[in-house]
Amino acid sequence: MSITIKNLNKHFGSFHALKNIQLNVPSGKLVSLLGPSGCGKTTLLRIIVGLENADEGQILFDGQDVTHKHVRERKVGFVFQHYALFRHMNVFDNIAFGLTVLPKAERPSKEKIRAKVEELLKLVQLSHLANAYPHQLSGGQRQRIALARALAVEPKLLLLDEPFGALDAKVRKELRTWLRDIHHNLGVTSILVTHDQEEALEVSDEIVVMNHGKIEQTGTAETIYRRPENAFVTEFLGETDAFEGRIEKGEWHYGGYRWPLDTQYKWQEQTATGYIRPHEWQLAEAGQTAMIDAPVQKIHAVGALTHLVLQHGKQEVHISLASSDAAKLNLTVGSTLALVPKQIYIFSQNELIDYAI
Ligand code: ATP
Repeated sequence: MSITIKNLNKHFGSFHALKNIQLNVPSGKLVSLLGPSGCGKTTLLRIIVGLENADEGQILFDGQDVTHKHVRERKVGFVFQHYALFRHMNVFDNIAFGLTVLPKAERPSKEKIRAKVEELLKLVQLSHLANAYPHQLSGGQRQRIALARALAVEPKLLLLDEPFGALDAKVRKELRTWLRDIHHNLGVTSILVTHDQEEALEVSDEIVVMNHGKIEQTGTAETIYRRPENAFVTEFLGETDAFEGRIEKGEWHYGGYRWPLDTQYKWQEQTATGYIRPHEWQLAEAGQTAMIDAPVQKIHAVGALTHLVLQHGKQEVHISLASSDAAKLNLTVGSTLALVPKQIYIFSQNELIDYAI
C-alpha cells in the first residue's frame, strides 16, 4: 500500500509542529523518518495512523483519502519503543491477541489462529518461547514479539516508532539486520521513526530527514549521504568538520587553499562554509598547497581504520585513514600532517553551493 501526504500542517497551540509536509511512501518500501528530538517524527506518525488529527492537509492510502477515517479502519500495525506486551498473557496469546478480538465475522478459526501464530513465531525466530511470559524475555525478544503481534492482523502498513531505542547497541545492530530481512521477506510498507543516522542508513529504502517540523530532504541512503542538500543534512548524517571560507572568482578560498567551483554558475562573492567528513581527507602531494597542516593530537586505531584528531589552530579536525596507510606514516602524537580534501560540501547560509565529487 502506498502512502501520500499532501500539504500537512499541525499546530499545538501556537507551536507549529509540522510545516507543510509532502511525502510519498511507495508500496512495499521501508522509509525512515530521521531527525533530532522534537522535530515532529512521532507527531507525523500519529497523524498517519489516525491517533492525532492534522489541522490541514490530506493523507491518502493507495490513492484513497483516509484523512477522516478512524484509526481502526486504517489497518495499520505499530510497534513503539516501550511496547507493553500483556504481562498476564504468554507469548503465544500476546501474538494471537489482535486476531482473537476481531469481530466474529472476521475472526479466523482457532486452528487458523494457531497456524498464524506459529508462522509468526518462526518468522521472528522465537518458536521455543511460545509459552514464556513477557518478564522471562530479554528486551530484544520482547520487541520481536511486539513486531510479531503487530504483523498478526496482516496490516497494510507497519509503523515502527524507535522500536529498538531502549536496547543496547549490540542488540540494536542485530535487530536492524533482522528487521531488514523480515521487511524484505514480507514487503509490507513500513515507516520507521529513528534519530539514529546509522540505523536509518542501514535499513531504509528511503530516508526522510526532518528538522523543526519540516522535511529537509528525502532520498535513498546513498543520495542523502553523498548529495546532502543543505548544511543541516550534511551535519546530521555523521561526523563532519566545518571550515569558514569565502567564495571569490569561482573558487572557494580557505586560507591559501583554493577549491574550484562548478564553472556553469556565476558565483557571487560571499562567505561559505565547507564541510568535510573524516574519511574524505588525503595527504597533500609534494608541492601541493595543503588545506590544513597541523599536528596530530590523538591517534586511535580501530581495526581497518585509524582515527586521528589534528589540532588546527583552535579547531579540532577529525581524520580517518586506512590503518595500512596510517602505519606507513609512522605517526606519533605531535607528528604534522598536510592534508587536502577528496570531497567537500560547500554551503552558504544553509544553501548548497557545490559538491566536489
Ligand atoms: P523524539 O525523537 O524526542 O520522540 P519527535 O521528533 O518524535 O521527538 P514529536 O514527539 O513529534 O517529536 O514532537 C514534536 C514537537 O511537538 C515537540 O516540540 C513536542 O514538544 C511538541 N508536541 C508533541 N505533542 C504535543 C502535544 N500533545 N501538545 C503540545 N505539544 C506537543
